[in-house]
Formats: sequence, structure tokens, C-alpha cells
Amino acid sequence: DTAGSTEQGLRPRGVFGKLPRYAAGKPPVVVEGLESFKLSSNENPLPPLPAVLEAIASETSVNRYPDPMTTALRTELAGYLGVPATDIVTGAGSLGALNQILATFAGQNDFDAPDEVVYAWRSFEAYPISVGLAGAAGVQVPVRADGTHDLDAMAAVITDRTRVVMLCTPNNPTGPVLTRDDVVGFLEKVPAHVVVVIDEAYQEFVRRSDAVDGIELYRGYENVIVLRTFSKAHGLAGLRVGYSVSQPALTEHLRVSAVPFAVSQIAEHAAVTSLRHIDEVEVRVQSIVDERIRVVAGLRDLGWTIPEAEGNFVWLALGEHTQDFAVRAGEHALSVRAFGSEGVRVSIGEEAANTRFLALCRDFPHRPA
Ligand code: PMP
Repeated sequence: DTAGSTEQGLRPRGVFGKLPRYAAGKPPVVVEGLESFKLSSNENPLPPLPAVLEAIASETSVNRYPDPMTTALRTELAGYLGVPATDIVTGAGSLGALNQILATFAGQNDFDAPDEVVYAWRSFEAYPISVGLAGAAGVQVPVRADGTHDLDAMAAVITDRTRVVMLCTPNNPTGPVLTRDDVVGFLEKVPAHVVVVIDEAYQEFVRRSDAVDGIELYRGYENVIVLRTFSKAHGLAGLRVGYSVSQPALTEHLRVSAVPFAVSQIAEHAAVTSLRHIDEVEVRVQSIVDERIRVVAGLRDLGWTIPEAEGNFVWLALGEHTQDFAVRAGEHALSVRAFGSEGVRVSIGEEAANTRFLALCRDFPHRPA
């Protein structure tokens, strides 16, 4: 019985054979007698605020579809960000919002000449998948040795076929930010037909005063889209709420490609409540930033070379020792994210997790260059 086999034509588009698979962060490793910690997905280690849990529990009318315009959330966000609510489009996580952006602006317009999407590499591992799924061709520009975007090289590869450039600040997994001057200088070189997406998933953890803040910047640029999320600082990764902010010239198209009802009423209510308790969120974020500062200082004291870390994670450029480090972390009940033979990304977690991570680094025989 060959029903359902590929010979019957039940096969996905050709690009599927070329797409990398998204490897989600490994679950916690169980080691007898040790508490396990998951440091592999840049999550917030703290549970949701009590008020957010109450908001979730109070959503009883899930027999109804949610508000497709997420008016309550966009109104609350507008107040928080100081932007018009009409500039905001919500999605199922910022990844959902990114997929909408790519579906809108980049694809396989012509079989011989797909649209091009330029992004730094290594960066967020979903980018090549999302770009490929959209039907566009990814143009990867290597990050510099210090983990920063090479914006000159990125500007240099823009062609008539380039439709979107992705900037990631702080860059996942390497950690550094782009400065405001960097981004303004770059935008001045980008032709008007190119959409520039600034992925700021970790913005709330940034402490460098000269770092770019897309929300301050986008009103001067009709081609800029800023991406933000409730997954990291707000600790709501499991609810899937993200959003984009851009001027009406772009936003009107994003509304057309928006997946209807992508944000559930539970997720919307939780996000609104979290924003209404932003002071408590900020205290928690600061506690994670404090731990990040302790971890980075601890690593540097041990003689480790660590790039600037402005998100809730650190990057260990361990090269050929990458997998070895990940195995050892597992033996200490720490799950971390290893990328081939490039390096290991370790999320800032609970204090005890970070302390154990530092002890592991102290005993590891190799140091990142
Ligand atoms: N952008 C970056 C840079 C990320 O690291 C992540 C999550 N790892 C996302 C976007 C997606 O986050 P979410 O879809 O949960 O908002």
C-alpha cells in the first residue's frame, strides 16, 4: 500500500529538503542527587507573577474566539511604549510575527530569482528556517570575532533582489548589541525598497546606554520593523505572545498576512496584566541582569574570553570543545545549547544554576579564545 507515500505526490515543497530542523532547547538533565536546571532556551527562570496567574485562571470564555485585533493588548502596549496602537501588530510569539513579516515581504516571486533576505550568522537559528519557508533565499553574513554584526559587509551584499534585512540586537547566541549610531549609519545606506527588521527579543535586559532602541528609532524610518516579545523579560514563553512595531505604510500589509486569532485570550490577558505590573517585571529583569553581570565577571576572572553579553545568556566560543562542554554540563544536571563546533550558549538561570555553571567552567580544561 503506497497511499501517502511520496510517490503519490504527497510531498512538501522542494525547499523542505534544504531546511535545517529547529532544535528546541534540551529539557533538564536528570542526575541523581542534583537539582536540574534548564539553561538551553533563554527562558526566564522565574514563574509568572501571581497577578498574571490569576488573569490566566480567570479566562473562562475560551469557547469563544479571541479578539482578532488584540485591541486590549495593543492599547496597553501603546501606553507602555509611547507609540500609536495602530503601529502594533501582535503574533504567536515574535517568531509568529517574524513569519508574517517574511510572508509579506519576501518569497519566491520568480523561480529563477527568489527574493533575498540578509542576516548575520550565527544568529537566531529560526531565521534560516523562516526565510526558507517563505520561499526566499537567505544571505548569511558572518558575525565578527567579537560576536557583533558586520554591518558594512551586510550593506555590501544588498542587491536589487534584497527585500528584507534582519538585525538581531542583542544577538542570539553571541550576545552583543548594535549601537544606535551603528543602526542609523546602516539605515542610511539601505535602499528604500528594503525592509529592515530589528529583532529586539532581549531588549529589556540591555544596560548599555548607547544601544539601539528600535522603538525610539522607527518613527524616522518608513522601512523599519521592530520585533519584541513577552517570552523573555515577561517570562511568558509558554503563552506565545510577540509583536511588531512599524509605521502604517508597513503595518497595513502585516495586518493582511496576520494569522487570525494567533494570540489567544488567555495569552492576551496575561500579557496585558504583566504590562500593568511592569514595576515588578522590571525588578525581576534587574535580578537577572545582576546575575548576568556576576556570571560574566566570574568567567572573565577565570580567564575566559566572553563577548559582550547584553541578553539573558552568555556565549562560550569553545570551538572543537563545544560538545565536550555540553556533555559535562549534562553530568552536572545543566542543560545548555551547543552549536556544532562553534560554541555553547548558556542562559542566565537561577542563582544556584549560575553558581554551578561557574564551578563547571572553573574545572573545564579549555578556555574560549
Ligand atoms: N528572536 C530571537 C533573537 C530569539 O532568541 C527568540 C527566542 N529564542 C525569538 C525571536 C522568538 O521568541 P518568541 O517567538 O518566543 O517571541
